[in-house]
Amino acid sequence: MLPDTETEKNKNIRNVYFGLPEAGILHHHGKQFVPDLKKAVLTELFRGRPEISADISIGEQKLLEELCPTAAFETNPFCLNLGKCVFCKECYFALPEKIKFTNDYKIATNDPEQLKIFPGQTSPVRFNDTLRRKEIKKLFRKSLKLRQVSAAGDNSCEMELNAAGNVNFDMGRFGIEFVASPRHADGIVITGPLSENMRAALEITWDAIPSPKICILVGTDAISGGLFAKSPALDRSFLENHPVDLYVPGNPSHPLTFINGVLSLTGK
Ligand code: SF4
Repeated sequence: MLPDTETEKNKNIRNVYFGLPEAGILHHHGKQFVPDLKKAVLTELFRGRPEISADISIGEQKLLEELCPTAAFETNPFCLNLGKCVFCKECYFALPEKIKFTNDYKIATNDPEQLKIFPGQTSPVRFNDTLRRKEIKKLFRKSLKLRQVSAAGDNSCEMELNAAGNVNFDMGRFGIEFVASPRHADGIVITGPLSENMRAALEITWDAIPSPKICILVGTDAISGGLFAKSPALDRSFLENHPVDLYVPGNPSHPLTFINGVLSLTGK
């Protein structure tokens, strides 16, 4: 039950985030935690997987290419690359009849091609089982310890990753946890656009993790550089030298996007 002192403003904040008519986790779920992390439904206001109308014209495509702040619209063929999108919704504001954002949060994948949303596409973003290294499912299905490195992150994705372990989302129920030392970790989770200043720390952390190990990019900044993609302060060479096992789009990524992506990666 909500306390009597709950203000209208607080109720609205809860409603927007969780999409609950009378909000309050206990009131909605009957439990402090989300009972089923794979079937949870987010509010319609959530900016998840976009859909582009099949009849979008060449002129409208050009308009979107020009207004997007991160060049997320690609050409030949035309598509929206989730790895570059910061979910600002400017494209929707310009052409609300031709593009919309669904509340589908399951947009993490191990296949960069799956990050591309084409006109007329309504199918979900899929995880490609054939691209997953065999040892990942075998070794990490029941337990996965991760070390997080914020490589010039702005603390938004980092906060959502913290939330993934809280009592509400509780990814620990699947044996997924963040650990303090890379020597105790099975993989690295990178946030931020990867600055030159953080290059050495990233390499040292990666080297300290025992093999076999996995690499996960969380957030648009980590996947593509996002708004900072052209900054001279970045050094993204780490990604040229190490394979990426999972891309988790979002700006920031939602805890459910991260958790469901990791569950797909580990074959849960
Ligand atoms: S929501 Fe994404 S695709 Fe649309 S304008 Fe913003 S960054 Fe570009």
